[in-house]
Amino acid sequence: MKLCDKETWESFSDFLASKGLRVTGQRKGVLEALFRQSGHFTADQLLQDAQNLDDTVSRATVYRNLPLLVESGIIRKVDIGTDNKFYALNGRSDTFKAQVVCSNCNKIFDIEAPFLEWYGKTVSEKLGLDVKDQRLQVHAECPDFKKNGSCKKTS
Ligand SMILES: [Zn+2]
Repeated sequence: MKLCDKETWESFSDFLASKGLRVTGQRKGVLEALFRQSGHFTADQLLQDAQNLDDTVSRATVYRNLPLLVESGIIRKVDIGTDNKFYALNGRSDTFKAQVVCSNCNKIFDIEAPFLEWYGKTVSEKLGLDVKDQRLQVHAECPDFKKNGSCKKTS
């Protein structure tokens, strides 16, 4: 494991401990599969990769751990309004991310949008409220679509 993976693993173990949950071999399988994801992934993609690493990892394990991983801040949920829910690893950067989604193939591009976080805070502060969640999604045509007039649907 790379160092940052080790740190993530430790912070997840601490998070589980704080909830009175145990660190199981299956959870470790899910986390290892997680580190192999690049970009956005679905629960099914994660399940498949986890089972390739450890065939004792069940669908239930993956579906039970995803909300825990989101709550612990290791990953975030990316809802682009389709039936498939996407997830992405949270990097070290705390900068607010906005998504640009291809309206044809649903490919997701993350862009840093610190101004949006500022906007949410400023608007809420005027009302004396705290921001809990905010999102910005832009729908556009991806580079493949622009170039070829079509792009392969991913979900
Ligand atoms: Zn596209």
